[in-house]
Amino acid sequence: MVVNPATEETIATVSQVGPEAADEAIARSMAALPAWRAVSPGDRARLLRRFAEVVDGANEELARLEVANSGHTISNARWEAGNVRDVLAYYAGAPERLFGRQIPVPGGVDVTFREPIGVVGIIVPWNFPMPIASWGFVPALAAGNTVVLKPADLTPLTAIRLGELALEAGIPEHVFQVLPGRGSVVGWRFVTHPAVGKVCFTGSTEVGQKIMAGCAEQVKRVTLELGGKSANIIFADADLEAAASSAPSGVFDNAGQDCCARSRILVQASAYERFMEHFEPAVKAVRVIDPSDETSEMGPLISAEQRTSVAAFVPEDAPVAFRGSAPEGAGYWYPPTVLAPVPLDSPAVREEIFGPVVAVLRFEDEADAIRIANDTPYGLSGSIWTRDVGRAFRVSRAVETGAISVNSNASVRYWTPFGGFKRSGLGRELGPDALESFTELKNVFIATGS
Ligand code: NDP
Repeated sequence: MVVNPATEETIATVSQVGPEAADEAIARSMAALPAWRAVSPGDRARLLRRFAEVVDGANEELARLEVANSGHTISNARWEAGNVRDVLAYYAGAPERLFGRQIPVPGGVDVTFREPIGVVGIIVPWNFPMPIASWGFVPALAAGNTVVLKPADLTPLTAIRLGELALEAGIPEHVFQVLPGRGSVVGWRFVTHPAVGKVCFTGSTEVGQKIMAGCAEQVKRVTLELGGKSANIIFADADLEAAASSAPSGVFDNAGQDCCARSRILVQASAYERFMEHFEPAVKAVRVIDPSDETSEMGPLISAEQRTSVAAFVPEDAPVAFRGSAPEGAGYWYPPTVLAPVPLDSPAVREEIFGPVVAVLRFEDEADAIRIANDTPYGLSGSIWTRDVGRAFRVSRAVETGAISVNSNASVRYWTPFGGFKRSGLGRELGPDALESFTELKNVFIATGS
């Protein structure tokens, strides 16, 4: 049963793929592989471009589906469907540019080829069902692999629709299959089935560790995009008004259910009071309303379970500095919540919250900011606000994180690499390099005689 998290109404029933059906789908994927990898680069590029156009034509339909299934605001959901189109269009350029090398060697000619891996299994979480799916399946298809994709149990609808749109665009049958089902059944089968050559997983660090250990049994290729505890570091020389007005969306976007959420705001002590004066009205102004309303800025959490998990970070005696608002009644609503001052060892500072709760911390100087920012097992994203270019570079290099933005809280651009240091993951998605992680590098030597 698929539930609308803003209303708690059941909106669809999706039948689950079981273990035998998962194996049958993987067998179909294997069978479709030789013909797909043999499609000429120009034709594969054309098919991906057509897929991008079909997704573009369905933007509003996909966005409405995501609002109903995931509680995303309509403006975010349109961006998300647009992101799938853009990722398709970007990697449509790849099949014709999948270059190898010619390496000088004695006695012959040496060339390298980028071969597809085979069947790629993609396991998607519920927080960004469309973009995260596309960051895996698009480069995988572009490199000549076939794909089996498991959406999260809570949010299967847009992935199922994308599977249908692929067929409409002319992607051959069984090249891209969407298999709704339980993670422990379908997802785990991707890990254990010997015909699946690579697993792409996005989700919790805990499950990611299991996936990595499972893949190790077969030395299976794996990409992991896991949790985060990113810092938004605000120096006293920054444009404090800009930093404060941007900080709410940096953590509360998608109701904080974002692995890049800046759930720790680090403010230089000398600017702390001034920052908080600007930050409070910005938090209170966040429009937490029906996500299908054009002006909505934040919707509900995905489930009652997620709301309970988020609320545990704000016990009765929590140091709540101020809060935004949230609707009463049906729906898994939770108001934007700011905690300050918070001890550095409290769960809200140490753990991924995955909800609209942020801890504001003080630091004294650059070294102190870097020390606090790095005092976490995670390293996915982050921001620095300063007018000092030298400091922007120094701190960017010193923070242990896969992606960082200066004077901006944006994390994801499909042109640039995305992924984590430390326990935030393994490998990179998006950008010019991700394609290679869906290929095996083959070296061919041809003796030419002396
Ligand atoms: P999970 O890691 O459990 O789920 C992510 C995906 O993995 C889902 O598709 C899930 O399937 C699947 N899965 C679960 N167990 C297995 C398994 N044993 N083998 C293969 N696949 C599996 O995350 P949750 O949804 O439980 O969320 C828990 C917390 O994880 C969140 O509160 C958040 O902190 C973090 N998280 C981080 C994300 C990120 O973007 N980095 C994304 C989502 C969560 P299904 O749910 O359908 O059973």
